[in-house]
Amino acid sequence: MKLYSTNNKDLRVSFKEAVFNSMPKDKGLYMPVEIPKLSKDFIENIENFSLQDIAKQVASALLKNDIEIEALNALVEDAVNFDAPVVKLDDQTFVLELFHGPSLAFKDFGARFMSRVMAHFLKDGEKLLDVLVATSGDTGGAVALGFLGVPNTRVTILFPKGKVSEVQRLQLTTNGKNISAIAVDGTFDDCQALVKQAFADDELNAKFRLTSANSINIARLIPQTFYYLNAYAQLKRQGFDKVVFTVPSGNFGNIGAGSLAYKMGLPVKSFVAATNANDTVPRFLEGGIYETKPSVQTYANAMDVGAPSNWVRIMDMFNENREEINKLVKAYRFTDEETLAGIRELFENFNYVACPHTAIAYLASKFYAANNPSENTAQVFLSTAHACKFPEVFPADILAKVALPTQVQSLKNNPEVYNELGKDFEGFKAYLLQK
Ligand SMILES: *Cc1c(COP(=O)(O)O)cnc(C)c1O
Repeated sequence: MKLYSTNNKDLRVSFKEAVFNSMPKDKGLYMPVEIPKLSKDFIENIENFSLQDIAKQVASALLKNDIEIEALNALVEDAVNFDAPVVKLDDQTFVLELFHGPSLAFKDFGARFMSRVMAHFLKDGEKLLDVLVATSGDTGGAVALGFLGVPNTRVTILFPKGKVSEVQRLQLTTNGKNISAIAVDGTFDDCQALVKQAFADDELNAKFRLTSANSINIARLIPQTFYYLNAYAQLKRQGFDKVVFTVPSGNFGNIGAGSLAYKMGLPVKSFVAATNANDTVPRFLEGGIYETKPSVQTYANAMDVGAPSNWVRIMDMFNENREEINKLVKAYRFTDEETLAGIRELFENFNYVACPHTAIAYLASKFYAANNPSENTAQVFLSTAHACKFPEVFPADILAKVALPTQVQSLKNNPEVYNELGKDFEGFKAYLLQK
């Protein structure tokens, strides 16, 4: 596939170039010049396919000219090695659980696929690839576990000291091998600023082959289309022909991938974007101007984003036309109090323990369904992370019901290794140079 920049539609780069650069120099985002349509036959019979089969079909529709088919199929099989089940709560309400991967969050889909695509494109004997990533929690774990043991790659993760949960920290600090973690005495923004400075530093660029792993990378977006199609397949098996997806949104990569799946032919009645108080997109879709704001802290902290980086992709797919987006996408915001009430309601009514991001999606899904009654329509909200990653949010009675998945139990047996640094760039640079 060829890609252009959302800021320059005459630009043409290869998939490989887009993967290693993440972002065009003009600060737009890469988008496919042509979005291929999946065949009608495939969509009509999708209930007969597994998640891996669906993933292979989609990957080949997009990437068959970039990666030869046997290699692509092997890569997909290796990347998508866990399930994404749709769990029924009542006759029309379903939760799409995206937390069954190694880091217990949906970001595993993007990170595992991207790491394997990068490894595929790295030729033997080429310079080692150094991935630098700043994380507020979930991204780092997915990238660390996604790249763990991947040949010719090395990952350095910066996280704000004391500001990630225990499970998140263990996912960053217990890996060894090609993964190193740094606790920065500062905030997530400080971590991100250090990474940005490193990318702009001549000496570091001369010595290392640096790349980022953030959510704007096209190789993270593509694999997130797989589970939308696979959810549709599961609901079709249960007799539904109309589906509404509610997506808890921060940088809008997840719902961007849903929109890409829609453009490829996924039948969707609506998408609902659910946000916390960081409501740049709901304000815009309600008729306001598109005005980014500094992020505010909420219980759903993986969605504390005031300037959603993937929103331009959605604008691009809908010809920069808000009316067109409004026909397909609704957006609602919820406060921390409502989020807690949503967690409580899911627990009391369905005996279901959801992370705060998931609870916001539940609330938005319920609100949408109440205001848009529709026969034979499945209301599906996405669960983006396992509750055990956000224990500080839960009241004691619900916390007691949060199960610890096997992935976490094994983490606790490994020693933690990480460096501590201040937020000054010189310290970080010196650390990198002695690697
Ligand atoms: C990253 C993340 C989100 C937000 O996803 P976007 O693609 O940035 O919109 C939501 N929930 C959880 C748990 C996350 O880790």
